[in-house]
Amino acid sequence: LLSMQDVRESNARSYPRRLPIAIQKAEGVIVTDMDGKEYIDCLAGAGTLALGHNHAVVHEAIQEVIANSVPLHTLDFTTPVKEAFVDEVFASLPESFARKAKIQFCGPTGGDAIEAALKLVKTATGNRTILSFQGGYHGSTHGALSITGTTSPKKHIHALVPDTHFLPYPYEYRCPFGIGEKGHEFISTYIENTLDDPESGIVTPAGIVVEIVQGEGGSIPAPVEWLKQLRRITKERNIPLIIDEVQTGIGRTGKMFAFEHADIEPDVLVVSKAIGGSLPLSVVLYDKRLDVWEVGAHIGTFRGNQLAMAAGRATLQFIKEHDLPEQASRHGQYFQTELKNIQKRVNSIGQVRGLGLMLGVEIVDKTKTPNLIGSYPAAGELARAIQRECLNQGVILEVGGRHGAVIRLLPPLIMTKQQIDEVLARFEDAIIAAEK
Ligand code: PMP
Repeated sequence: LLSMQDVRESNARSYPRRLPIAIQKAEGVIVTDMDGKEYIDCLAGAGTLALGHNHAVVHEAIQEVIANSVPLHTLDFTTPVKEAFVDEVFASLPESFARKAKIQFCGPTGGDAIEAALKLVKTATGNRTILSFQGGYHGSTHGALSITGTTSPKKHIHALVPDTHFLPYPYEYRCPFGIGEKGHEFISTYIENTLDDPESGIVTPAGIVVEIVQGEGGSIPAPVEWLKQLRRITKERNIPLIIDEVQTGIGRTGKMFAFEHADIEPDVLVVSKAIGGSLPLSVVLYDKRLDVWEVGAHIGTFRGNQLAMAAGRATLQFIKEHDLPEQASRHGQYFQTELKNIQKRVNSIGQVRGLGLMLGVEIVDKTKTPNLIGSYPAAGELARAIQRECLNQGVILEVGGRHGAVIRLLPPLIMTKQQIDEVLARFEDAIIAAEK
């Protein structure tokens, strides 16, 4: 199967290169390859599979849609399935945001919802500059790529969307000011001064886009105080704050939405991945005072996936009924504590961090220097060796961040403590093997 892929599939395929398996079936947190070997899935569709693979409530919801002859494709017509889904989404939002929010269905990917958000704030403000953060990831389409804060994914793409600028993100471990924990205070001051300086080269932005925890950037949580400052700064200047919760949303970080940790609210909230309950779906939720655009301003054929809405509603309900955000928080803390214990026993872990079940283990090379601009590709090689060893041991996980030097764990929210212990044991063995 994999060799067939080499022949027929585009060179752009990504995951199977570093995780060379073909998958026969999957259930819960377990994935089974074609040889019958089982793996614990800590990638979970890049954070999509909140309830793991093929959860019974997701299956039932999908079967009900089919049994009731709900049209599988409806463009953006309303159906009872859609109404019920919208109700569930609004009931999942903090009340004050729900009261002022409007929902917009986008194309099936997070990237398309980002495009909609960018166009929305440009239309609403009449401004065109977008600010986002170094190291951030927002998708692969032109607009989303333009505001993605790393250069490697765009090195061959010359005509990006103009008027996009990058601000430093409070990445404590590799703080751009080299001062660790206090770095975020400098960043707030820098942002404020830059916005107020008419000669800074940045004209009044249409919006600022931020991830509460940078995902692909290396599972980097932003400090709560900094998020509060960012909200204050944007509010005072009337700049829409777009919070990208494509990866952090729907319980992953220990709250239904990660912005709740900082007790702030977005002007625009971008959600995808887990909200479709394993199926493709994305939405933008925004303050209705921004709803100035014309009918059809952001359209697309696939904005009405009824199966995804039904699966998404069932997922949201299950998450609430079983208080999975609380469990994600508890299990995430346990995971981090145990990873920090492993850190003491091995040589190559620079930092363990995360929020809820969005975890990062920053691998360092011999020099162990946490410089932002330092050269540490060797750490990336070691992280990939650990990933390979994990696969041998039956654990699927991802690498991300600069040079791919951060091991990322995004297990399904339903992962049990026993399964976490199993992952930890195999992970430690894998690091020891890779370090040799
Ligand atoms: N934003 C964030 C924070 C993401 O993590 C991702 C996907 N990893 C996207 C946007 C883009 O989503 P999609 O791949 O569905 O286009």
